[in-house]
Amino acid sequence: MSKKKPVTPVSPDGMEILFFYQCPYCARHVPVVSPTQPGMIVCDSCRESFPIIPVDEYGLHYVRMMLAGGKAAVDPDFL
Ligand SMILES: [Zn+2]
Repeated sequence: MSKKKPVTPVSPDGMEILFFYQCPYCARHVPVVSPTQPGMIVCDSCRESFPIIPVDEYGLHYVRMMLAGGKAAVDPDFL
């Protein structure tokens, strides 16, 4: 095993927002990353697919901006 030099903790340099859609078949809350387009998703529990209502892209953009792409989430000085 090669000797690695210690790495300082890395802060986020981007972010996504996770949304949950309840599966109509098994009621599991299926996580989906920022679904801005309508479409079908597959439940990772029962494997059934179902259509979802997309989220508003402008709302996502606003939240990303508010948190400076994730940087503000670790540094209170950003807020
Ligand atoms: Zn399901």
